[in-house]
Amino acid sequence: MSMAEFRFDRLFIGGEWVAPIDGGLRDSIDPATGQPWTQVAFGGVRDVDRAVAAARAAFEGPWRKMAPWERAGLLRKFAELYATQVEALAQVESRDNGRAIRESRGDIGLHPQYWHWFASLADKADGRTIPMDDSVHAFTSRLPVGVVGTITPWNVPLMAATWKLGPALAAGCTVVLKPAEQTPASSLALAHLFEQAGFPPGVVNVVPGDGPVAGARLVAHPDVDKIAFTGEGATAKTILKTGADTLKRFSFELGGKAPHIIFADADIENAVNAATGSAWALCGQSCALGSRVLVERPVYDRVVEAFRRNAGRVRVGNQMDPATHMGPQAHAEQLAKTLSYVDIGRDEGAELVAGGGRIDREGFAGGYFVEPTVFAGVAPQMRIAQEEIFGPVAAIIPFDGEDEAVAIANGTPYGLAAGLWTGDVGRAHRVANRIEAGMVWVNTYRYIRWSTPYGGVKTSGWGRENGVEALDSYLETRTTVIST
Ligand code: NAD
Repeated sequence: MSMAEFRFDRLFIGGEWVAPIDGGLRDSIDPATGQPWTQVAFGGVRDVDRAVAAARAAFEGPWRKMAPWERAGLLRKFAELYATQVEALAQVESRDNGRAIRESRGDIGLHPQYWHWFASLADKADGRTIPMDDSVHAFTSRLPVGVVGTITPWNVPLMAATWKLGPALAAGCTVVLKPAEQTPASSLALAHLFEQAGFPPGVVNVVPGDGPVAGARLVAHPDVDKIAFTGEGATAKTILKTGADTLKRFSFELGGKAPHIIFADADIENAVNAATGSAWALCGQSCALGSRVLVERPVYDRVVEAFRRNAGRVRVGNQMDPATHMGPQAHAEQLAKTLSYVDIGRDEGAELVAGGGRIDREGFAGGYFVEPTVFAGVAPQMRIAQEEIFGPVAAIIPFDGEDEAVAIANGTPYGLAAGLWTGDVGRAHRVANRIEAGMVWVNTYRYIRWSTPYGGVKTSGWGRENGVEALDSYLETRTTVIST
């Protein structure tokens, strides 16, 4: 398929492409121009209800009857199909969310491996036997949670969908996927691949819609057994309240304010290139980016200078141009938010050493472009060092010694990820051990694979995606005790 063959003007429910009952068509905006590039079907409450009914019927019917090895085979077939569609999917996603096409190709190009990994887990949900006494035999079985509502953000729609749908389907669950309202198109493209791969109708349903309407209905629905959510902490709190009456299961992948901790004994060029790369990847719109840069004082000036230099080398441009490093912000509200934090940083007395402005010269007009931005001399309690900006704004903070580095690193409510740069293996272990984060990378950054668990502590989330842990989160354990 090519991008032109995907249709976005219908919902995908029960294996059919249907018009919304409650919603309608909505423009999807190209953030490079601020203009619509396609129209997408948006569903409402009754559309979500239809999708949940289809998912329930599939769960009780063909999907449950399928042997795990058959589900694995279907997932493998899907992985192979996905591999043939990487370019088309990358085109859709970049157009919709502004991510530089070279990044989308790289990221989405890895997804088939994720699907193969999840396929390989489908027949691994085994239980155990438990010693009791001679006349009693006990064992556990692990069963799919049921119907899963997956709610995804706008920064990485296909990645978030892959990380949720892969293990959910491997576990034997069925799914209703509600993508973010700003970037719904690639999730509908994904639905085409499920259709083409021959998944039974209703196993996967895709309903774009507004969070407080379609999303809230999915969360409140009594026949949805679990919500797998990626997005902001504030939304997660609302979701918990909305879903409380049903006591369904929740997993949350939330925000971050990850520190890079650069010690003076590190390979500084390596550290700075990784830190700047991660500050501006996805135009700064990723939960695990190292937006706080903690630098030991002896190398502080050198690191600040290298950040300024690297900021000047970033090629900002239209996301569909393969030469572009950094596209526009994904939508107008995010642009406004990023620029507001530049003002906040200035007002707080941080030193702006690079960027800080919107780019709207010829060729950029109407788009949501900002310059890669660097603040130095940042104090740990400043808002630009505490709050998730989700834009290409790095905050450089000096420190002296391990204890201060750890205190600053742990001194936010977040705990998603951290990067540690040092040439001393003892220090690497010592400091990594004290960091409050779901992931710590040492002398590398954002090295993420299907087999490594991903997720946050503190306010950065509940649960883990990827790894064998991902499968666990879509399973319930039943204990059977038999007296002989
Ligand atoms: P968001 O919370 O605004 O929206 C996420 C999803 O929630 C969207 O689909 C939205 O429609 C839906 N939603 C909104 N209100 C809802 C409601 N009342 N009920 C149900 N659903 C509702 O987040 P966003 O702005 O799209 O994404 C950015 C956030 O996501 C950042 O905080 C980022 O750090 C986080 N994120 C985390 C990870 C991770 O793996 N930890 C990955 C990507 C993004």
